[in-house]
Amino acid sequence: MPSTPASTDPLEILLEVFGYTAFRGPQEAIVDHVVGGGDALVLMPTGGGKSLCYQVPAIARQRAGQGVAIVVSPLIALMHDQVGALHEAGVNAAFLNSTLDWSETQDVERRLARAEITLLYAAPERVTTPRFLELLDSLAARNKLSLFAIDEAHCVSQWGHDFRPEYRALTVLHERYAGVPRIALTATADALTRADIVERLQLEEARQFVSSFDRPNIRYTIVEKKDATTQLLRFIEREHEGDAGVVYCQSRKRVEDVALALQDAGINALPYHAGLDASVRQKHQNRFLREDGIVVVATIAFGMGIDKPDVRFVAHLDMPKNIEGYYQETGRGGRDGEPADAWMVYGLQDVVNQRRMIDESPAAEDFKQVMRGKLDALLSLAEASDCRRVRLLAYFGEHSTPCGNCDNCITPPQVWDGTDAARKLLSTVYRVQQQSGISFGAGHVMDILRGKETEKVKQFGHERVSTFGIGSEFSEAQLRGVLRQLIAIGALAVDAEAFNTLRLTDGSRAVLKGEASVSLRESVSSAAPRKAKREK
Ligand code: ADP
Ligand code: ZN
Repeated sequence: MPSTPASTDPLEILLEVFGYTAFRGPQEAIVDHVVGGGDALVLMPTGGGKSLCYQVPAIARQRAGQGVAIVVSPLIALMHDQVGALHEAGVNAAFLNSTLDWSETQDVERRLARAEITLLYAAPERVTTPRFLELLDSLAARNKLSLFAIDEAHCVSQWGHDFRPEYRALTVLHERYAGVPRIALTATADALTRADIVERLQLEEARQFVSSFDRPNIRYTIVEKKDATTQLLRFIEREHEGDAGVVYCQSRKRVEDVALALQDAGINALPYHAGLDASVRQKHQNRFLREDGIVVVATIAFGMGIDKPDVRFVAHLDMPKNIEGYYQETGRGGRDGEPADAWMVYGLQDVVNQRRMIDESPAAEDFKQVMRGKLDALLSLAEASDCRRVRLLAYFGEHSTPCGNCDNCITPPQVWDGTDAARKLLSTVYRVQQQSGISFGAGHVMDILRGKETEKVKQFGHERVSTFGIGSEFSEAQLRGVLRQLIAIGALAVDAEAFNTLRLTDGSRAVLKGEASVSLRESVSSAAPRKAKREK
């Protein structure tokens, strides 16, 4: 026992226990607020330093005789890491989860009852059991509950990317122990998720601490998908030879194929998806963490809790579901602060697939509506011709100015007005449907518009459609861009049940009537052959 009482000053605790000389960003304000007994909602990107925001207050309050802090965390691996690190720093921390046997559990519970623990980590489903609440009751009765920290707070929201129903029951903490301060923390939360966290966890009175979500060292690039694997190979060869990276694909099959293609090209690539044996997954993950220059090709099963500082690129060969997913996955690059690339190829099929997945999901209609809105936000990020970062941050409620470190800032894309092309396309879809009584796919519709007398055109007599050839000035790539945008804004639908044929929607009318304009980025490769024509 030291002869002088341990300090309750946050800055002294920071130095003495953690060895850091200064708080980072908003940490100090958050710590002061919580030490003072206030509730807080903390939004901070991964790596921002959330843990100290509750660890320092927990130590300060424990030293002031205010007892035990309860940390709710959904990730067992993370609990173990944190408790291990706290032990090394001489802090009395423990966890309660399914990895403990009966006697170990007993032991922790006994120490908890005596308020001998400074920080207790527990899974949400554990915290809300009658048995655990009884323990908390007894601590509360003696004023020995110092605070509740609710980590990964977005798990309470079904709009978050990782909904966990157990989190809903955490409202009991506020209802039962109203006087105990609560701090909820998350690294992802758009406005909707944030509002949901506040409501579900009854944090209306909590002060919100919102850090910038900007990751300035990450360069965002989104290019049109042609041959994704070849594009990826070229990207790696040109910019990331020998670098560690993660390549995200949607399906297991594609993960396997892409990993093989990379290996064939001499790249140190390993597949990772839920269909592989746990031992194989573990082996690949370990090699990625320990060896240099490994590229993991993975489904989104890969990444949660993986903290490798020198990942130099994150590539998406298929589009994620929404901006949170994109931000989370790209955020795994460049944690060391050195330059990293977030590179994605994106095409018509991505739009169609993602829309279909929502349409075909068994979820309730209002839920699907929200998911569509989130997808739309990602689509407009992909189609954007202005700064990607400005748009990304705006999605998280942050205002910023053009970054100079994204594809659109570095090489501003040519933009052309696709309104006329869009109208011609929609009226062609309408007219062939009128004439033939059935719908047709994108390729055929584009052939008609561009005046190509293919076998199919002749077979259906579509050279007689009044829009035949009126779009001959547009390249196929340009029309594909228009199609993609029309589908992205819901002005055109692809009917998966009917051979991917196109059909008009309620949203088509505004475009047809010229009330909605369509502005398009010129895709790099399609620009070349037609450039001369447009420039004069
Ligand atoms: P998060 O939970 O927000 O992802 P962590 O709490 O794990 O972030 O912190 C990320 C890293 O930053 C850790 O290695 C942590 O020790 C370090 N860190 C946090 N705060 C500070 C600080 N004030 N000074 C120095 N290092 C810090
Ligand atoms: Zn930019």
